[in-house]
Amino acid sequence: TVVTRFAPSPTGFLHIGGARTALFNWLYAKHHGGVFRLRIEDTDRVRSTEAAIEAIIDGLKWLGLDWDDETVFQFARAGRHAEVAHQMLAAGKAYYCYCTPEELEQMREAARAAGKPIRYDGRWRDRDPKDALAGVKPVVRLKAPTTGETVLTDQVQGEVRVANEQLDDMVLLRGDGTPTYMLSVVVDDHDMSITNVIRGDDHLTNTFRQMQIYQSMGWDCPSFAHIPLIHGPDGAKLSKRHGALGVDAYRDLGYLPAALRNYLMRLGWSHGDDEIISTRQAIEWFDLPAVGRSASRFDYAKLDNLNAHYLRETDDRELAVDIAARLGVAGDNAATERLVKGMPGLKARAKTLKELAENAAFYIAERPLPMADKAKALLTAEAVGLLTKLHAELTHLTEWTAAAIEAAVRQFVDTNSVKLGQVAQPLRAALTGSTTSPGMFEVMEVLGKEECLGRLSDVFL
Ligand code: GLU
Repeated sequence: TVVTRFAPSPTGFLHIGGARTALFNWLYAKHHGGVFRLRIEDTDRVRSTEAAIEAIIDGLKWLGLDWDDETVFQFARAGRHAEVAHQMLAAGKAYYCYCTPEELEQMREAARAAGKPIRYDGRWRDRDPKDALAGVKPVVRLKAPTTGETVLTDQVQGEVRVANEQLDDMVLLRGDGTPTYMLSVVVDDHDMSITNVIRGDDHLTNTFRQMQIYQSMGWDCPSFAHIPLIHGPDGAKLSKRHGALGVDAYRDLGYLPAALRNYLMRLGWSHGDDEIISTRQAIEWFDLPAVGRSASRFDYAKLDNLNAHYLRETDDRELAVDIAARLGVAGDNAATERLVKGMPGLKARAKTLKELAENAAFYIAERPLPMADKAKALLTAEAVGLLTKLHAELTHLTEWTAAAIEAAVRQFVDTNSVKLGQVAQPLRAALTGSTTSPGMFEVMEVLGKEECLGRLSDVFL
């Protein structure tokens, strides 16, 4: 079976690039009827935080990316990682290196002077530990092959080769006995039976080193797929302004998980010209050959359009409950019912839940209504005069439906020989405090007779 994993370092929020990596791993596992695992790479004890772990877990749950089995914490497995290093020592695949910090610095200095890459020269590969200076705590290094090539057949990048002489003998265990990142990742992926590693192409160079560890242990390498990073709309590294936010920020901005999933899956993967792809459909279609090799660009307008689509598909009551919470009236039944009724008109116009909440606020605002300047400007003496008369007419209206209200207003306009706009615009200002809103008669039906008459009277009393 296919087993994939998402292996974030909990040093910050779950950012959008990480979310996409998780999504691709999740989709790949689902597509193959496999298993998707979560491993928190918390070995950096200084930079890893509980808050970040929580943000990652909340973010994945909110996105609907459920993982199988227990969450694995890398730091807790340090003993196992060290055990593998000792197996390699015993098998002659690794060795103790007793270089002093001064010696290493000399090596670096010499490389810099010669304009060559910094590389450990292997001086302890075959040397007797008896030669070591007293008091030096040795590191454990991999006895890496010095000839030949390490060849990666990457599912996205194709075949990539590196001459082994380019790779020095990497450290597996530090002087204090703690494992290095390179060793930990390999041991964990092996022990978690990971068959496919899908991750950002910033990890490509690590992969050759990791492959050397697999080979040295005689373990099967997983299949690798290195996906291009997400760039900003200008092609530069993704910045905060251009979308490098945590998943929680997208939730707060009012994006729906389904929309974000759809957006993220299309960042680097495509299925023909399809833009709107449901998660179910993506599970059926997703595969690595369709992942492109060039960096994808973050595009807020596209995300907004997708979100608008998914908003329109979402149930009115579900939206109303979310909006009520955003407007600070969670659990208020009357307010929620009014939002449910107003939702068809509201959701046709909004791109995010945040925008939807802003547009819906007038429905549940308390009297007297806060007025935008533009709306205030519409309430001239003449307009208020008309609204006063209209108020009197509407008092007699018994059937309070959009159609009946429209008929009454049209008749009022005829009787008073004014244009519909002369009444409708100030009417909107008086009832919504704004110059834009869903259809006026629909709004009036939703507000109800009493509230409409009250709001109208607020402008002339
Ligand atoms: N922990 C690494 C990161 O957050 C990912 C390691 C991997 O996927 O192999 O970048």
